[in-house]
Amino acid sequence: KPSTSRCLCTMGRIDLHSHTTASDGSLTPEELVRLAKQQGVATLAVTDHDTISGLPQAIAEGERAGVEIIPGIEISCLYGTTELHILGYFISPDDPHLAPALIKYQASREERNPRIVERLRELGCDLTYADIKAAAGSATVGRPHIAQALVRRGYVNSVSEAFDRYLADGAPAYIPRLLPSPGEAIGLIRRIGGIPVLAHPVYTSRLKEPFEQVCETLKGLGLLGIEAIYSSHSRQQTDRYRSISKNQGLLVTGGSDFHGETKPNLLVGTGYGNLSVPSDLLEPMRALAAG
Ligand code: AMP
Ligand code: ZN
Ligand code: FE
Ligand code: FE
Repeated sequence: KPSTSRCLCTMGRIDLHSHTTASDGSLTPEELVRLAKQQGVATLAVTDHDTISGLPQAIAEGERAGVEIIPGIEISCLYGTTELHILGYFISPDDPHLAPALIKYQASREERNPRIVERLRELGCDLTYADIKAAAGSATVGRPHIAQALVRRGYVNSVSEAFDRYLADGAPAYIPRLLPSPGEAIGLIRRIGGIPVLAHPVYTSRLKEPFEQVCETLKGLGLLGIEAIYSSHSRQQTDRYRSISKNQGLLVTGGSDFHGETKPNLLVGTGYGNLSVPSDLLEPMRALAAG
C-alpha cells in the first residue's frame, strides 16, 4: 500500500532559476508560474536579469496557483574581464538600496544596446534599436532581444547562431557594458537581505584562474552559495561543484535557467530533461535568509 506521507515530501520539484518577460524570458510571470505548476514545481525562484519588475505578478499568481515563489534576481558583474552572474534569493524587493542600483544597471544597458545595433548596421544588418525596444515592450532589453531581431530579419536562423556570429563576447558586434564589480553585486544582495549565489559555474571556464580560487575570492566578498545543479551541467560537473561547495562551506543550489522560447528545449523544473533539484536544499537557504 503506497504511503501518502512519503509522497508529500518528495512530490514537489523545485527550480531556483527562471526568467520572464520582465527581462529576456518569453513568458509573462503569470504564464511562467502556471507552467511551473503544470510541471509539478512546488517552489520556484524568479530571477530576472537586473530587475525585480516581474516579482509582484509572479507572487500573486503563485498564491492563486499554489506555487511558492522565492523573490530573486540575477545580477551581472565583471570579474577581471569575465562576466559572472550572481543570483540573489529571498531578497527584499522594496529595500531602498535596490532601486538606485538597478537604475544604474539599466542605464548601462541603455548605453550599450544602441551601440551593438550600430555595429550590426555597419556589418550590413538592417536593424533599428527602436524596433528592438518596441518588440521587447517593458522588458529589460538584453542581447537575446537583439538576437531575436536578427532571426526575424532572416540574418541568422537561430538565437544561438546570432550569438555565435555577432553577439557573443569576442564576436564582431560584441560591446562590453559597464558592470558592477563582484563585491558590489554580492554586497548589494546581502544588504537587501538576500543570499548571493554564483550562477551557472560552468560558464566560468573562460577564467584562467582555478575555480576554487574564484570561489574563495567571491566568498571573501560575501558569496554564500554555488549553483552546482544546472541544466547544462554534466553529472561530473555537478559532482565537482558540489564537492567544492562543501569544502568551502558554501550552499549548493540548483535551477534550470528557464527562458521560454529564448532557450529552446529547456523546460522549467526539468531543464533539458534530466534536471532534478532536491527540495532539501531549501532548508539551509531558509535558515540563512531568516538569520
Ligand atoms: P545581456 O544581459 O544583454 O548581456 O545578455 C546576456 C544573456 O544572453 C544571457 O543571460 C543569456 O540568456 C543569453 N546568452 C548569452 N550567450 C548566449 C549564447 N551563446 N546563446 C544564446 N543565448 C546566450
Ligand atoms: Zn537571460
Ligand atoms: Fe545567467
Ligand atoms: Fe539566468
